[in-house]
Amino acid sequence: MNQVKMEDIISLCKRRGFIYQGSDVYGGLSGTWDYGPLGVQLKRNIMQLWWRRFVDERDDIYGVDAAILMNQKVWKASGHVDTFVDPLCEDMVNHRRYRTDHILKDNGIDADGMTMAEMDAAIAEKGIKSPDGNPLSKSRTFNMMFKTHVGATESDDSISYLRPETAQGIFTNFKNVVDSFYPNLPFGIAQQGKAFRNEIAPRDFVFRSREFEQMEIEYFVDPSKWQEAFDELLAATHAFLEELGLKPEYIHELDVPPEDRAHYSKKTIDIEYDYPIGREELMGIAYRTDFDLMNIQRVSNKSMEYTVKGTNTKFVPHVIEPSFGVERALMAVLSGAYREDEQNGEKRVYLALPEHLAPVRFAVSPLLKNKPELVEKAREVYAQLAKANPGRVMWDDNGNIGKRYRRQDEIGTPHCVVIDFQTLEDDTVTVRERDTTEQRRVKVEELV
Ligand code: ATP
Repeated sequence: MNQVKMEDIISLCKRRGFIYQGSDVYGGLSGTWDYGPLGVQLKRNIMQLWWRRFVDERDDIYGVDAAILMNQKVWKASGHVDTFVDPLCEDMVNHRRYRTDHILKDNGIDADGMTMAEMDAAIAEKGIKSPDGNPLSKSRTFNMMFKTHVGATESDDSISYLRPETAQGIFTNFKNVVDSFYPNLPFGIAQQGKAFRNEIAPRDFVFRSREFEQMEIEYFVDPSKWQEAFDELLAATHAFLEELGLKPEYIHELDVPPEDRAHYSKKTIDIEYDYPIGREELMGIAYRTDFDLMNIQRVSNKSMEYTVKGTNTKFVPHVIEPSFGVERALMAVLSGAYREDEQNGEKRVYLALPEHLAPVRFAVSPLLKNKPELVEKAREVYAQLAKANPGRVMWDDNGNIGKRYRRQDEIGTPHCVVIDFQTLEDDTVTVRERDTTEQRRVKVEELV
């Protein structure tokens, strides 16, 4: 069980420049978040690590970056226009709106697999009221896609949507990638980017946002070989989670039972994580059969068949989809790294981030900022380190050394480098380690 409090993470993120409420100066916009300088770096480090492991280092997965706005036919064919809905109920007195399954969950009832009528029946039977104690309306469906119009005239034909997932930008490029690269099966196409969902009740910090980022792969396989591809991608996912520094005891596989899976899915494993808000979905891997490519083939009238090289064998490949939410990975990393201890009788907060993810790897300070000779030498060391670690070295001469250490601990900087008078004599610096607070003297050239 994760004992960290969500409020502590949220306040650290704001105080230290990781994540701010979106449109904060105007009172905020619910479900949107802005990343500050350290949040951007941490998020990039996570996304780049994923890209390196799943795209750069594999010769069977190709990267794409598709447009966010897509032809409305994409969302009709995929089923999103008709079925990308959540059940919504309303407080009959103050008209606040809620997700019916969340109301049930908050009252100890798991609504997975229930129809809307069954959810309403459960609410009536148990006499469940809104969080304000008022009666709830019957549920209706609410489509979560943000609708917009493309072009200067607004008509049914100009309707488009902000994509609610990156996956469809991959499926629509399946044929393009096959025609340009002639890959052998199995092969995958990967994409990272923004996704938008008009969540009825965004909550739990960035966990359920209206604008968020996904990292998705559609891995195309011969239907007879789906299981081995599924197992391989699941193993690669676990290896990635380990590299995120997540504690194995906080990670759980949920083999989603058939009644809770999408109708086209033959197998889905959700990876759940023990967040401070409880055990929740971090990512999912689904065997989606040929559902998506067949839909495209039907609506576009273009063949999505793949021809096995050197043969006349043709078929529409099946798909394994590992789908990650970046915010959920980031929240797992932050809440897993949050630590409190006591140093010299004082409470200390630090983020024990893995060094390869920490936004700042080295903080460099002159011991005293009013001594030009120390500042000059410190600038020299800073420049050398910054060259070797682009974007991940911070110059920090605010406040006294104790304050600097506290600040760097809170942002998870593994090493604080201090230039003092001894540096001028023997070219060694003090390196203070975040987790142990131990200090040692190191030659500048060794450090670089
Ligand atoms: P949930 O049941 O939690 O709403 P989902 O099953 O609808 O999630 P998917 O459609 O499978 O989610 O999306 C794939 C991944 O995208 C999820 O595993 C999650 O990591 C991420 N994700 C989905 N919705 C959100 C959101 N509103 N905010 C942040 N991340 C999200």
